[in-house]
Amino acid sequence: MPPVRVLSDEVVNRISAGEVVERPASVVKELVENSLDAGAGDVVVELQRGGRKSITVRDDGCGMSRHDLLLSVRRHATSKIERWEDLQKLGTMGFRGEALPSIAAVSHLRITTSDGREAWKLFMDGGVLKDLQSAARTIGTTVEVNGIFYNQPPRKKFLRSENTELSWVNKFVTGCSLSRPDVGFSLYHSGKELFALPAGLPVAERMVSRFDLSPDSPRVEGRGATGGTEAYVLVFPDQRWSQARHQYILVNGRLIYSRLMRDLLKDHLGGPAGHPLLLCRLSLPNPDLDVNAHPTKRQVRFRKPGEVERALEQALLAATGSRKAEFRREVGEGKGPYPLGGSGPNIGADAIQTALELAQPEERSPAGARPAPDAADIVQIAKSYLVAEIESGVVIIDQHAAHERILFENILSHVRKSGEMGSQILLLPQVIGLQPDQLDVLRRCDVLLRKAGYQYELDGSKVVLNAVPEGVSHGPDALLEVLRTIASPVRATRPEHEQIAAATACAGAIKAGDRLSTEEARRLVEDLFETDDPFHCPHGRPTLVE
Ligand code: ADP
Ligand code: MG
Repeated sequence: MPPVRVLSDEVVNRISAGEVVERPASVVKELVENSLDAGAGDVVVELQRGGRKSITVRDDGCGMSRHDLLLSVRRHATSKIERWEDLQKLGTMGFRGEALPSIAAVSHLRITTSDGREAWKLFMDGGVLKDLQSAARTIGTTVEVNGIFYNQPPRKKFLRSENTELSWVNKFVTGCSLSRPDVGFSLYHSGKELFALPAGLPVAERMVSRFDLSPDSPRVEGRGATGGTEAYVLVFPDQRWSQARHQYILVNGRLIYSRLMRDLLKDHLGGPAGHPLLLCRLSLPNPDLDVNAHPTKRQVRFRKPGEVERALEQALLAATGSRKAEFRREVGEGKGPYPLGGSGPNIGADAIQTALELAQPEERSPAGARPAPDAADIVQIAKSYLVAEIESGVVIIDQHAAHERILFENILSHVRKSGEMGSQILLLPQVIGLQPDQLDVLRRCDVLLRKAGYQYELDGSKVVLNAVPEGVSHGPDALLEVLRTIASPVRATRPEHEQIAAATACAGAIKAGDRLSTEEARRLVEDLFETDDPFHCPHGRPTLVE
């Protein structure tokens, strides 16, 4: 074996670029967060060709001196933390000192900055410093990222269409603007203004402006609090989309993705008419939130998922409660029962019309029920493979292998650290007869199994399965496979939590022959590319071919 070597910064930056820089939206995220950390009052984001050609973020923050500018593109250079404890009470968005060097490694980077005393312009190509010149600029910073992945063709291939990349950037910038109504945000694409939101308007007005709603567009809000957790929701019940694409979930100011929260929102507000436009804000003490869980900080881990759930549920009940009260007001106070019940004799025709409109809005919202731009370019063939369009052609994805990889990582990470692996309740509980050795396993691994999302009761030598890990398609198969695997002495060398994740993924994943809806197919492809290794199933078999 060759001797052990320490990797050069250049190599490390490229590796970390794979984690931090995934696509234009992740670059925009890092740059905008830097602008906010620098105290910007106005942030302008400009893209060319969905960000594939160039991404520019301009701010009026504190800027950098020549010395800081040179340091900023070096690995683990940050002005934001010094000690490990600082991580615990983090007030700023970024903190790893990885973003700029990672972005620099895979693009042509230009930074122009001024701290009010001096102004400098720095040029880098593929992570190599090319030039540093004095410049003219008012206080603030402009970062320009050209030709993302120009030196990494395989990564470039996984960029999606310009429109799709743009829609992700748009979602992020919109989310940021809702988190920070005190800051002005604008977004331009290929020279055209998509929106420009001045600083200072209350968040509801910002939403009205961003989504071009009429100023009196109905809205309801609700608040909830449990322990240290506070939740706030603001819903525009008339503005609906077929997917939950305009639901902005902010946790301690960050736009994040949380299944737990998404499912609660869906349970309370989703319906046949689609998903309403909404803002959901959660704030909780920093120690209860792990933002260090994923390099892009998009996925967070809650230390007290139960608290989060209760606070949000309260807020949602308050919001729907106030909406019902509004219905009542509209049909005239005291004139009868809740109008949708339809039994009140005194409700006038107009009132019924209003109630129906609120419940089943016409498709006159800005995007109506238009399909997601990328939904159309994924198709299922032979009920076994998904064909998805990418930059250079198509990929064919094995739906079983892909789902296996997703489930495996999801369950493993939740079983290992006690997280919020959700359960999905079975419509009909399933009764499964067990062998004595399987029964032993069930008893012994009870805690791990429940952590993984299984819920069941024992009834003699039978188990009544009530719920299975979220995302699992074949629940009873999955549990049986877990018990079989762990009971079998052959594989007793792997830790049990890994065996549970692997067996659940293997037997519980979508199988060849399972039909997927367009939305399910799209989710699957998206989730696959969020995994650590989208190219292989947990057994090492390929998930896709190009
Ligand atoms: P981090 O944000 O994790 O500190 P980055 O690589 O994103 O790491 O940025 C490195 C450093 O560069 C920051 O700590 C900050 O001091 C400086 N910096 C980056 N962007 C800006 C900006 N827009 N305005 C002022 N300073 C910036
Ligand atoms: Mg940063």
